[in-house]
Amino acid sequence: MIVKVVIDIPAKQVNRSFDYAVPKDWESAIKLGSRVQVPFGNMKRTGFVVDITDETEFNGKLKPIHSIMDYDVFLNEELIELSDYLAEYLQCFRISVLQAMLPSLLKAKYDAIVQIHDPVQFSEKVGSWYQNETSIDRKVLEERISPNAISQLKKENIISIEYQVINQTTQKTKTMIKTNLNKDQLMNALEKTSQRSFKQRAILEYFINNQAIESIEKSTLMTELEVSNATINSAIDKEWITTFKEMIYRDPLKDVSFQTNSSKTLLAEQQNAYDLISQSVDNKQADTYLIEGVTGSGKTEIYLQLMDRALQQGKSALLLVPEISLTPQMVERVVSRFQTGIAVLHSGLSITEKYDEWQRIIKGEAKIVVGARSSIFAPLENIGIIIIDEEHETTYKQSDNPRYHARDVARWRSEYHDAPLILGSATPSLESRARAQVGNYHLIHLENRVNQMPMPPVDIIDMTQVELRETANELSPELIEKIQDRLDKKEQVVLLQNRRGYASYLLCRECGFIMQCPRCDISLTYHKFDNQMKCHYCDYHEPLPTQCPSCQSPHIRTHGIGTQKVAETLEEIFPEAKVTRMDNDTTRRKGQHQKLLDEFSSGQSNILLGTQMIAKGLDFENVTLVGVINADTALNLPDFRASERTFQLLTQVSGRTGRGRLAGEVVIQTYNPEHYVIQFAKTHDYENFFRFEMKRRHLTNYPPYYFTTLLTVSSKHQGRASQLAYDLKAQLYNPELERKEQLYIIGPNRNNISKINNYYYFNLLLKYKDKTTIQRQLDDILNNTQQKATQGVYVNINHEPQYFS
Ligand code: ADP
Ligand code: ZN
Ligand code: ZN
Repeated sequence: MIVKVVIDIPAKQVNRSFDYAVPKDWESAIKLGSRVQVPFGNMKRTGFVVDITDETEFNGKLKPIHSIMDYDVFLNEELIELSDYLAEYLQCFRISVLQAMLPSLLKAKYDAIVQIHDPVQFSEKVGSWYQNETSIDRKVLEERISPNAISQLKKENIISIEYQVINQTTQKTKTMIKTNLNKDQLMNALEKTSQRSFKQRAILEYFINNQAIESIEKSTLMTELEVSNATINSAIDKEWITTFKEMIYRDPLKDVSFQTNSSKTLLAEQQNAYDLISQSVDNKQADTYLIEGVTGSGKTEIYLQLMDRALQQGKSALLLVPEISLTPQMVERVVSRFQTGIAVLHSGLSITEKYDEWQRIIKGEAKIVVGARSSIFAPLENIGIIIIDEEHETTYKQSDNPRYHARDVARWRSEYHDAPLILGSATPSLESRARAQVGNYHLIHLENRVNQMPMPPVDIIDMTQVELRETANELSPELIEKIQDRLDKKEQVVLLQNRRGYASYLLCRECGFIMQCPRCDISLTYHKFDNQMKCHYCDYHEPLPTQCPSCQSPHIRTHGIGTQKVAETLEEIFPEAKVTRMDNDTTRRKGQHQKLLDEFSSGQSNILLGTQMIAKGLDFENVTLVGVINADTALNLPDFRASERTFQLLTQVSGRTGRGRLAGEVVIQTYNPEHYVIQFAKTHDYENFFRFEMKRRHLTNYPPYYFTTLLTVSSKHQGRASQLAYDLKAQLYNPELERKEQLYIIGPNRNNISKINNYYYFNLLLKYKDKTTIQRQLDDILNNTQQKATQGVYVNINHEPQYFS
């Protein structure tokens, strides 16, 4: 037996497979996708078996593989094939894709332990050296018997092999306290402790009274007894108690109610969608459906019933969500519908927990997978349906190597399994909606909300007409009045202030003028350093004007305000209200996000103020007012998708109100009330927004009319990075293609040299009609720029980037 192995060196010279011989008594332990160690040059490297064969074109004696790394296979035949496709499609090295598909535990340092489940049989098979241990080191076993024999023992369930991470620092732990003293010893210690040392006595008394408790978390004990760290330490010194670390096990389903939630009788629109898609499930057709339906139109119910249908046919189902922590309700609904056989993959899991979930999928114990982006690589067999909820979300695009979009991977897997792919959203990405327009996707509209409630009315406040008081800088009198009204009624308010509130853009407070790049149709960004307005795509720049170029008003300003400032203003105006602020600063610590949400949902606070993280998935009955402090911050993003993102954001945040019995209302403050995005958001009119935005993209040559690829050159040496960026542009430049409007190259942008962690970045943006025209050149760039990497200059190729800076 001969195996073809891809080696773990991401480089051109080894971006192919190498042949190795497999010793006879190893053969049954090797499968497609196995990880092996092989001799390579004079090194030992890890690799993946991507093919098993009997032939080789290699002249000479093949080296045998050195060792087998896993007796389980984590990548099945499908994923091996997919890795080949993706490497080519994304223009990255195949090994990078293979590694991205692997559960992260296998990239950590771990020990492999053989658990012996049946010592009697085990002893019979391995002989007298075995001393009845319940587990032994894998290496010990491998010295005694052949891989084939190990594989056989595993198959017969006599043993299993478990991985234990050696370096646990990446895992979340908590400090626990226990006592080594028995009750008498504790009583003894208590007698010897002065009555006045009541804190010390409290600790002893706690353990005397709670004999049944083995251990308690240190922080819990501290709060419960109101004792300090010093008291704890002194108790440790006296050897009453000891501390130890314990892993925090985050059961993703912990807080989920296991109530059953049976299927609902579908409404006409839902039924129609279900009937169409279920035909594709039944007939094994790899169709893609785009379900465009406002929040509350019953999309999730359709997903659940379709998943059920696939399961009933013995197939599996994959459901992607943007981010599990932001969409707890989705997980809850899947679990309460199906109860068991569900793997939930999310970032809160430790790598060991993720690995366990992966194992359940491989063993077929979990036929439903719910997870974020990387779950698209879940090793499910026989997939019957793939669903991507909120398909427009940018989290589906991986920004690091391999820079895949889950939607593209989903398409491939859908075809591999002959299973339909469902994309759902209230505000589909322009790309997807355009594909539906030309018939590549089937478009399904859900026009009505299940509860028949209308969408909330949206009030646009023209901020150019608002006389701004010093204190209430960002809040119009209308908004202040409405907030007060809700506070009086004991209802709740959600306020959105965009994350990039601090991003520097030019705003005329008289007329709302937004300064644009004349070539790129994106907003110019203010650079304080040299007082210039600059384009983030191309070379364009001009000095900061002293008055508004449009209305000549001197009231222009170059900065937005952040959530902190707004929070302060709110506290000033509404001293009686409690404000929960949610942004990158207040949610940096793990668990903080949930804590703040709990604070708001339990009614402890009246106003939830936050960045776009509050726009998603939240569902609070008592919220009757949603306010957008300044819609222009999003409109001013230096990104050609700024309009699309703003529309999505406004629509999404509007959906946070009027969900319960109480009617809701939305207030949007803007300096550009006539802007088409604001106007279409006011009427929740996605379809007309789509048409308008498509025209604009057409005029300015952006997706979906053109494909885009971002080349980023980075180096600590500014000169070398810049040089290479210009060289690449020269290499790619093709007057013929440009004349035919087939290829445009924008940049490199000299004026916007950004320096992050001492690296200089230069961007080239390619816009093209047909990838084949540049595919080979990009392949060459991928391959040839590696020599540059040794000189400290790096090149990234990012197809269809979601962000540009
Ligand atoms: P979406 O995913 O489009 O936001 P959901 O599927 O969550 O919509 O539906 C909104 C609400 O209506 C949910 O509470 C859901 O349980 C309920 N619902 C959905 N479909 C039906 C139906 N056919 N009959 C009764 N209630 C339904
Ligand atoms: Zn420009
Ligand atoms: Zn103006």
